[in-house]
Amino acid sequence: MANEPNATSRFAPRYAEIPTFMRAPLIRDPSKLDIALVGVPFDAGAENRPGQRHGPREIRNMSSLTRSVHHVTKINPYELCRIGDMGDVAFPWAFDLEKSHADITRFYETLREAGVAPLSAGGDHSISLPILRAIAARQPVGMVHIDAHTDTCDEELGSRFTHGTPFRRAVEEGVLDPRRVVQIGIRGAQNSEEGWAFSLDSGMRVIFIEEFSQLGVEAVIAELRRLVGDGPTYVSFDIDSLDPAFAPGTGTPEVGGLTTIEAQGLLRGLRGLNLIGGDVVEVAPPFDPTGNTALVGATMMYEILCVLADAVSQRKGTGK
Ligand code: MN
Ligand code: MN
Repeated sequence: MANEPNATSRFAPRYAEIPTFMRAPLIRDPSKLDIALVGVPFDAGAENRPGQRHGPREIRNMSSLTRSVHHVTKINPYELCRIGDMGDVAFPWAFDLEKSHADITRFYETLREAGVAPLSAGGDHSISLPILRAIAARQPVGMVHIDAHTDTCDEELGSRFTHGTPFRRAVEEGVLDPRRVVQIGIRGAQNSEEGWAFSLDSGMRVIFIEEFSQLGVEAVIAELRRLVGDGPTYVSFDIDSLDPAFAPGTGTPEVGGLTTIEAQGLLRGLRGLNLIGGDVVEVAPPFDPTGNTALVGATMMYEILCVLADAVSQRKGTGK
């Protein structure tokens, strides 16, 4: 059942009131939610250009531009599910990366126990590992991972828990089933082939940007649907999957990337999968003087919210 319209958020003028994600009501109690929108303002895992800690606040601000009914699918997520902004994960140990990751895991464990599907705004990509540790604790999950990078390196500067390593750790820790992982949009020179090699050797399907262009959006959707099947599936969207022409405000821009309409098409193609949550990461507002990257991030969050709400409502039998 959907949340009642909240005069302080979705139905206030869009320039007014406190900017929650998509103007959803601020609800800290997970028992009142089917889907929690969560900010994870953390970038201690970013190696070169940090600033992703400012992502959630800017995405909240720009997300007041999003509306309810999807223009293609006609999904209105707010009619299908109880959706609220749960605020941000707190970081009392912000200078300590591993303690902070543990804080993230504890936050998402409360969502798992309450049966709430999370949709998060990062934060650098290292946050996906502690999220998966919570929500995939009982069963490894599949993942649709849209990114310029595989994020399966072994370590960076002596750390095993950076934004370049989360999905290698997730496989090693048994929270991610690599045979049900599809990585899309991969590109850019690396200093070694170890990340690409780990992805391929572990059984992930890696779709480099050249193959993506050759296949086209619809064929890639068919391929990812075949591979992830009907098991529980997480969506991780790194904003640097997009060409920096569309999303320059990010830590590791790589030219030659996806267009916004291609990425939106991909996300719409996830409808009907057994989606359990998702994230949009690596928006770094200090590198984006126009604010457009945060708008793009908010829009991708809305696209994921639509397909996630559809999946959640199907599981709960609350769909139309
Ligand atoms: Mn990434
Ligand atoms: Mn990336």
